[in-house]
Amino acid sequence: MTEITDISRVKSAELYEKAKTYFPGGVNSPVRAFRSVYGTPLFIQKGDGSHIWDADGNEFVDFCGSWGPLILGHNHPAVREKVISVMQNGMSFGAPTALENELAELILSNNKFIEKIRFVSSGTEAVMSAIRLARGYTKRDKILKFEGCYHGHVDALLVKAGSGLVTFGETSSAGVPKSFADETIVIALNDKDALQKAFAEFKDQIAAVIIEPIPANNGLLLQEGGFLQFLREQCTANDTLLIFDEVISGFRVGFEGAAGVFGIQPDIITYGKIIGGGMPVGAYGASATIMSNVSPQGPVYQAGTLSGNPVAMGAGIAQLTELLKENFYQDLETKTTAFVSAIQQYVADKGYEFKIFQIGSIFWFAFTGQDHIRRADEIDANSMSHFKIFHRELLNRGIYLGPSGYEVGFVSAVHTADDMEKAKLAIFDSLDVVYNQ
Ligand code: PMP
Repeated sequence: MTEITDISRVKSAELYEKAKTYFPGGVNSPVRAFRSVYGTPLFIQKGDGSHIWDADGNEFVDFCGSWGPLILGHNHPAVREKVISVMQNGMSFGAPTALENELAELILSNNKFIEKIRFVSSGTEAVMSAIRLARGYTKRDKILKFEGCYHGHVDALLVKAGSGLVTFGETSSAGVPKSFADETIVIALNDKDALQKAFAEFKDQIAAVIIEPIPANNGLLLQEGGFLQFLREQCTANDTLLIFDEVISGFRVGFEGAAGVFGIQPDIITYGKIIGGGMPVGAYGASATIMSNVSPQGPVYQAGTLSGNPVAMGAGIAQLTELLKENFYQDLETKTTAFVSAIQQYVADKGYEFKIFQIGSIFWFAFTGQDHIRRADEIDANSMSHFKIFHRELLNRGIYLGPSGYEVGFVSAVHTADDMEKAKLAIFDSLDVVYNQ
């Protein structure tokens, strides 16, 4: 194992000091502040393909991909050229454009799980609107969510479980009224009993159950086969809408997202990230009947100055067009599986208590000997100290992961064989450091 020195962060540190005078915590979104990993946050200057460069000129193979949107890597020519060509005609009109039709057509004609869609500008907005739609449609107020699923910074969903099998949530952020949290029921993932108990206890009160069908915000908590199907059946039996939050999984595990992979029809689906090709786009979709409740067709109000922004629509069109090419998802999965298998083999040979959970091109490094982790409370919080070392070692070897051990990594279509080989060897060395401290 070669001794490695820390990368230079002189310029990043200077920028961070400045940023702290402008922004709370020096950032515009909390996890970027590197609070749970080593050192100051890296300020990124440029991205191209699978690589990014920081302000100090350090180069990394990037497995964060802007937290998921960049399934084609950075600065993909098709996306860039489309964006530039749209911008020649102006950037925003606040009026309908043909580009909105084009992106909607691309999505709806290749996704049998939704009939109508509404574009918004972020995943949070998509979820917030989907919740309002579910409440307006069912004329019920309560929402059921799962501990360990993240759905953006929506008031009603910034709620964590209290103690007990079925709990009214406790707010997980200051500034969320308790009365809002009281409308949110929180149960553990993968727990059929808790689900049934919640439906019994709050009979005819639950407007919607919201779940990340592939929970990927608190580790990768892959659910037992049958759990999502059970959820579907219980929702139907209780006249409750099932919302799949596919902000991460949508267009990531397949063009039809997790709904397509598992063959389960939710009532509403939310999208974000990949749908906008790196620009701020979110969306929610459902059957024509449910969507007919959205304003101006129906009584559920939802609007946006920059909704359906033409430049963002252009980026989405260009990116999604690439995803529809033959074998796109198979190739991505094959590449990811080979990478994951090689690492699993290495840790097995070394006897390290380490697992990589994977679905499609999403992976999560878990510092555990457990074969499965399906619930947030099954993650050993102590394992995060391992991640902290691991993250630093990887950065020093030119590999960039999101700066939190609870976050997943993403492989893009443009990661080359060389990138994967380099990452694999860096991971081997970094694991040796972690387990031989
Ligand atoms: N839902 C899920 C499943 C997400 O992963 C995220 C963001 N990570 C959101 C909603 C919120 O999306 P945004 O950050 O675009 O508001």
